[in-house]
Amino acid sequence: MKKILGIIVGVLLVFVAIGVAMQEAIVERMMPNIVAQNLERDVVRDLPDGLHVFVCGAGSPMPNPNAGGPCLVVIAGQDVYVVDAGTGGSRTMALGGVNPGAVKGLFLTHFHSDHIDGLGEMMLQRWVGGTHSAPLPVYGPVGVGTIVDGFNMAYTPDFGYRVAHHGEDIVPRSGAGGSAVSFAVPPQGQAVTVLEEGGLTVIAFSVDHSPVSPAVGYRFDYKGRSVTISGDTAKSANLEKFAQGTDLLMHEGLAANLVKIMEQSARQAGRDNLAKIFFDIQDYHATPVEAAQSAETAGAKMLGFYHIVPPLLVKPMEGLFLRGVEDAYSGPVVVSTDGTFYHMPAGTDDVSVD
Ligand SMILES: [Zn+2]
Ligand SMILES: [Zn+2]
Repeated sequence: MKKILGIIVGVLLVFVAIGVAMQEAIVERMMPNIVAQNLERDVVRDLPDGLHVFVCGAGSPMPNPNAGGPCLVVIAGQDVYVVDAGTGGSRTMALGGVNPGAVKGLFLTHFHSDHIDGLGEMMLQRWVGGTHSAPLPVYGPVGVGTIVDGFNMAYTPDFGYRVAHHGEDIVPRSGAGGSAVSFAVPPQGQAVTVLEEGGLTVIAFSVDHSPVSPAVGYRFDYKGRSVTISGDTAKSANLEKFAQGTDLLMHEGLAANLVKIMEQSARQAGRDNLAKIFFDIQDYHATPVEAAQSAETAGAKMLGFYHIVPPLLVKPMEGLFLRGVEDAYSGPVVVSTDGTFYHMPAGTDDVSVD
């Protein structure tokens, strides 16, 4: 009996070995086509004319398997822009078929580390992905020069290695890194036009992220469609003013009910320093209900949450995050994850999500 069992186990192991070997052979055979298909993939090329927002980072500094650091791609026609460079943003773009090599300009809302910690990688992927001969324009309030100069300095050896290895034709040294384009933050009630190009107008306005200053939000208008991006802010009347009638309000959200639980848990675990931080962060962010009130006041057609605090690790947490939102805002609400794509085709009133 034992002998028969041994033979059966032996035969099964041979089949498993053959199965593994066959799987490897199949993958080896299919890989060239799959890689080529992925490299040919260009999501932007296939979009209808209009304004589109791809979420390259829906999260915050807290680790989250579904959301990288804050990062939004705004596509106007065929022109690709990025707002904030949270960690992992350029990788999420590549995974979503949006080539970081196509980025024409990047806008920073403020200089908190979670909004700039992916900037070095973003600038590098844009350079090598697009064979650019001029650095990436990085727009931001006064002070952006220090940020961009710092990244350029830190990446100087890497720029040299890549030019030496791949050559100036592939990676022209003149296109490495970024060049800062700074603007003075206008007083409350006023906005500044930061960019006008190809039918797109981008304005910046101040928001309330005290003690962090400067801190701005941006509004993009293109062919009658618009998206307003909050950056990091407590509930802001200035944002409501400049978001008037916007098609899509992309707003940060910190669920105070959930962060209070985290604060208590940290204290219970003897992590008093963390408990203090969880307490402090509640005063310079907007709750989802406050963001919803702003969307209602501004008459926004859709509210999309990003910069979501804390990470929503299980589905019921989304309900807790949104508690009270539907009483405050009558339009559709989306809680973004990495890869969420908003579409506003020109010549329509539609705002769709996939
Ligand atoms: Zn932030
Ligand atoms: Zn911040």
